Amino acid sequence: MPTGGKPTLTQFLIEERRRHPGATGDLNALVTDVSLACKAIARKVAFGRLGDAMGAAEPAPQTGINIQGEEQKTLDVLANQLFLRATEWGGHVAGMVSEELEHVYTLPTKYPRGKYLLMFDPLDGSSNIDVNVTVGSIFSIVRAATPEVDAEPDDFLQPGTEQVCAGYAIYGPSTMLVLTFGNGTHAFTLDPMLGEWVLSHPNMRIPEKTREFAINTSNSRFWEPAVKRYVDECMAGQSGPRGADFNMRWIASLVAEAHRILMRGGVFMYPRDTKDPAKAGRLRLLYEANPISFLVEQAGGLASTGRTRLMEVQPDSLHQRIGFVFGSSEEVARLQGYHHEEPQDTYQAPLFGKRGLFAAAAV
Ligand code: ZN
Repeated sequence: MPTGGKPTLTQFLIEERRRHPGATGDLNALVTDVSLACKAIARKVAFGRLGDAMGAAEPAPQTGINIQGEEQKTLDVLANQLFLRATEWGGHVAGMVSEELEHVYTLPTKYPRGKYLLMFDPLDGSSNIDVNVTVGSIFSIVRAATPEVDAEPDDFLQPGTEQVCAGYAIYGPSTMLVLTFGNGTHAFTLDPMLGEWVLSHPNMRIPEKTREFAINTSNSRFWEPAVKRYVDECMAGQSGPRGADFNMRWIASLVAEAHRILMRGGVFMYPRDTKDPAKAGRLRLLYEANPISFLVEQAGGLASTGRTRLMEVQPDSLHQRIGFVFGSSEEVARLQGYHHEEPQDTYQAPLFGKRGLFAAAAV
């Protein structure tokens, strides 16, 4: 067996479908199309500034006109096109929403409309591209309210609990695809010789306990009291109320953070804060927070707005932002508890107060 006895994605999808005798195979076909887009994006990303394998002078950092007079496209624009081209033709989707597009993408008239809606962030963390740090693609699939007709914007506004499949591809030292259909979270590694996704990490589990947290502490002055208290207690280490030393990580790439937490635990926080009152958080609900939440929950972790279960939030707009906390269940539950037990202005953080470590550092 060329994959050393491990199932390929195709084999996994067929076996998954056999467990659902009524399934038509449309969802499998759509996921296969998405996985092809991810392979294509992985190749684009791997060539970096060299452009693609055919030698086209391409990914300059900004869109512009190259010396042949052709329009140059940034990698996130290219990744968006690869997602659209790989998935629009098959008759499986009734419409799409992308981080790169302001409005719902309506399929070209020549293609049939299907019964699913696809939402995606084609190249998450794309500001990390220039410094060659891990990036990824994220996607979420729900059922179309009215199959086989063009989807309306409101059709996409379904809570995360309605997802039938979610996943991401991560373009790191190896390329991986992490998926859930609501029956566990499973990771496939791309075999670059075979060009096949091979099941390398079946049934991923996020440990309940962790001593590792990830947050952008440069925003600490905007945090709510419960978040300040939580981080403060982690920073206090062995002699603090937690009685343990914690490590901190921050990659500023959602896919990379989620992947680390799925592989070894931890807690990620991009909470709602007071930095910009117009924004309820930083990350996008439909194609970032919802799919990551589905993967995390299926791996035994928790995913929250900071206060309540994230996947139960009723979306109100396509590009809505939200506070997002996920990872090891004990830590996410602890932070939620702090939000519920503390009135908003009661916590006086020693590390963030007048004489605190962070305050002193800022002077
Ligand atoms: Zn993103």
